[in-house]
Amino acid sequence: MNRARVLLLNAALGPLDYRIPQGAEAEPGSVVLAPLGPRQEVGVVWDPERLQTEEVGDNRLRPLLHVYDLPPLRPALRRLIEWTADYYLSPIGAVLRMTLPSSSALDGARTVTEYRATGKVPDRMTPQREQALERIGERQGLVRELALAADVSDGVIRGLVKAGAIEAVEVSIDDPFPRPDPDHHPPRLEAAQQTASRQFITAVQGADFAPYLLDGVTGSGKTEVYFEAAAEALRMGRQTLVLLPEIALTEPFLKRFTARFGCEPVAWHSGLRQSQRRRAWRAVATGDAKVVVGARSSLFLPYRDLGLIVVDEAHETSFKQEEGVQYHARDVAVMRAKLEKVPVILASATPAIESRQMAEIGVYKEVRLPARFGGARMPDIEAIDLIQDPPPRGRWLAPILVREMEANLQRGEQTLLFLNRRGYAPLTLCRACGHRFQCPNCTAWMVEHRLVHRLACHHCGHMMPPPRACPECQEVDSLVPVGPGVERIADEVAALFPDARTAIVTSDTIWSPAKAAEFVGRMEAGAIDIVVGTQLVTKGYHFPNLTLVGVVDADLGLSGGDLRAAERSFQQISQVSGRAGRGAKPGRVFVQTHEPAAPVISALVSGDAEGFYEAETEARREAAMPPFGRLAGIIVSSEDSTEATETARLIGRTSPRVENMAVFGPAPAPLAMLRGRHRQRLLVHAARSLDVQNIIRDWLGKLDWPRGVRVAVDVDPYSFL
Ligand code: ADP
Ligand code: ZN
Repeated sequence: MNRARVLLLNAALGPLDYRIPQGAEAEPGSVVLAPLGPRQEVGVVWDPERLQTEEVGDNRLRPLLHVYDLPPLRPALRRLIEWTADYYLSPIGAVLRMTLPSSSALDGARTVTEYRATGKVPDRMTPQREQALERIGERQGLVRELALAADVSDGVIRGLVKAGAIEAVEVSIDDPFPRPDPDHHPPRLEAAQQTASRQFITAVQGADFAPYLLDGVTGSGKTEVYFEAAAEALRMGRQTLVLLPEIALTEPFLKRFTARFGCEPVAWHSGLRQSQRRRAWRAVATGDAKVVVGARSSLFLPYRDLGLIVVDEAHETSFKQEEGVQYHARDVAVMRAKLEKVPVILASATPAIESRQMAEIGVYKEVRLPARFGGARMPDIEAIDLIQDPPPRGRWLAPILVREMEANLQRGEQTLLFLNRRGYAPLTLCRACGHRFQCPNCTAWMVEHRLVHRLACHHCGHMMPPPRACPECQEVDSLVPVGPGVERIADEVAALFPDARTAIVTSDTIWSPAKAAEFVGRMEAGAIDIVVGTQLVTKGYHFPNLTLVGVVDADLGLSGGDLRAAERSFQQISQVSGRAGRGAKPGRVFVQTHEPAAPVISALVSGDAEGFYEAETEARREAAMPPFGRLAGIIVSSEDSTEATETARLIGRTSPRVENMAVFGPAPAPLAMLRGRHRQRLLVHAARSLDVQNIIRDWLGKLDWPRGVRVAVDVDPYSFL
């Protein structure tokens, strides 16, 4: 009899055995539909010897309902899914879900019905309908997608369809993607670029695992170099995956890719419509999508024939997923490359200490681009001592920086002010009684967003209009903003330079690739003089006329310092500095700080990156911190504070005694409450040689806790909040 062991897309379940019906074929990797109680669930047939389950007699097996007409998931991907589940202590079904994110991609339909506005005004207009039409604009999508975008119910959209204001359109999802042409417009590489690209091309041809660290200063032309490796993969007919840390970077990437290869690559990110997602997924699986550019989730797609992986801006901590399966995309990318037997290139101007260390011990090959492309100079970085040269009261920009901005404006050059804080002010308080506005669900201040006239929690999204009177003492008009966010800096800029054209760039203003494209277009056309932005604008962009960068508060990243605070500050300020003077005109950077002598600042000013990294690396080595030791966070949370505390204590009390391992805590997490859940943390610190995952699995596996308690293990944590 024909049995199949099946992993369902269900994190709560282990593998289950089914009967393969007569005449059907279901080899490991096949995507199937299986009965589960009264329901049906999608799953994947797995190698039976790799997953244990309770033996069920042949006579009790239920038959599979359907085997989808799709290429089976390849063994390398199945091993990657197992490895990820194992390493990050996550249910394997939750990992599998990242490979098969939309079950609608599975059925063979060639078209889907989407909807869009017709421009006709319905006979009967309601506020809801008005809102829907206004927000839908040019958008097209499923009823559900439009309803979500417009923040109305599905019923409102359907009503508008009946009224003729929205119409149905058939969209083909089987249209092939255009083929990028490796010889469309090859660049003339400089000597250092040549040497680097030749190594990568040889590695792609070698079709074997080879991890590279591409360490090149900002503006050195790293992208052009790894494009040559992608071109080689294209010539061989193989697929390339390029991972980017955020979707805002996708747009400039698409443009450059198109200039080099003659058409766009296939994009994969959370902003895709269902139909786009489905088309992309199928094209990845059939091998039709030759180059995929995507956020971290594109790592788990079922590539038919992967030939190369690139992780751009590989030092970015946003590659670490902080919810669900808490994996680090950079590390999983290296593992996928190993399993697929292909080269992987980690590209960065400011590589993470973890990656540098791998290069140091010879695991990664380091390829350097020490100078900017085309003879452009690295910018000069100067510190502004905020104690000696403070801004006037109630302002945030020091006189030196303001003078530089003025001169830059007069020259017709562009300026970027960087402050990693969204909104107008990080804290609002009552002048009369000192009441501070806190999120009801989180241990966090409500952040004022003046542009949308709201107080918002950046952790859970809770919003409220700023009240006229203080809820505590009822005093009217007594609320004052404390500290600056980008909106407040933009106000200051407007007051200083009323004629300058200013843009605020944060995830509030650039929330889609289209918005990013619009911003890039305006910058390139010279329609913006001064950009005020968060970390969103610190990387990837190339604006030759941007010559002045001001870092508003260089100390911000160092406060509340965790293990990587100094490193992250250094990377962030180096990256934002790297936006200055990328073309013919030289760039200057001014860094405002209260501590000009801090190691991070003095390293930036003197340009001594090596010295800074060496000192940081030494400190990590001495403390046996990553990459010299291992960490794992254990986060216990519950809506019931007592349950959370008791469970955390139970875990602490039962911690195993293992040599070279210490368990700290439990203690209330710095974010003691998040989305209404009380949080306690423990931290496991162990020697590299220990198999921490196994120890934790055994330890927690023996314990029981109340149903409402969640225990999440964060292996190799980046957040300690
Ligand atoms: P990085 O990613 O290292 O910061 P980029 O790849 O963005 O640097 O390159 C900086 C600029 O130089 C870009 O505008 C890029 O198009 C240009 N550039 C780099 N190498 C070449 C080349 N060989 N020929 C033409 N332009 C190049
Ligand atoms: Zn909140």
